[in-house]
Amino acid sequence: MGLDDINSRITREATRVGRNAADVNLVAVSKVQPNERVEAVLELGHRRFGENRVQEAAGKWPEFKTRYKNVVLHLIGPLQTNKTRQAMELFDVIETVDRIKLAKTIARVAEEIGSCPDLYIQVNTGDESQKAGVAVEELPDFVDECRGLQLPVVGLMCIPPIDEEPSLHFALLAKLAKQHGLEKLSMGMSGDFEKAIAQGATSVRVGSAIFGERVKPAG
Ligand SMILES: *Cc1c(COP(=O)(O)O)cnc(C)c1O
Repeated sequence: MGLDDINSRITREATRVGRNAADVNLVAVSKVQPNERVEAVLELGHRRFGENRVQEAAGKWPEFKTRYKNVVLHLIGPLQTNKTRQAMELFDVIETVDRIKLAKTIARVAEEIGSCPDLYIQVNTGDESQKAGVAVEELPDFVDECRGLQLPVVGLMCIPPIDEEPSLHFALLAKLAKQHGLEKLSMGMSGDFEKAIAQGATSVRVGSAIFGERVKPAG
């Protein structure tokens, strides 16, 4: 538990599988955590965080960003089209691009504001009807569309089904990224980030194992 523990587990697993630990970014998922806990992690020098709701992030990160320099904020939850501009102004990375309408809106806003966060495409590797993400068979067309819109797509992201072996989903995501020439892989959470590192994750999203159990449901 805690930031130091997670960092050493990342280093240990990367080393074990012959990777460089510096190639694995830790996204500390601060959603619904009390501000004191987030601040404690900022005080330890950590700067990369993930939030799953635009509204919630907008309520705390502008202030943290003025007090702590070089914060890098990832959006890891679904993005409604009407919040695109707000999200693009607040987040440095958006990991949940998953439909054409959203891709087109991001492209339009990017042109207006003259910048765009790094983007990941979320892939629904488990083909779950209730889950966000592009279906595996639709990914080739979706990547083409995004590239046609000149979007800065850097990688793929997935959230495996809870009742399946995550390694299979991580391996699939790694294969898909390779097929499309995408370098970044956001995969792995508190319970399975070491498996994700073994499958090539360049970014792991860890919440409760750093901050403790969430005090409210994450929604
Ligand atoms: C909440 C969340 C996480 C972190 O979950 P933990 O199990 O607390 O590590 C990672 N990814 C996404 C998309 C999340 O919503």
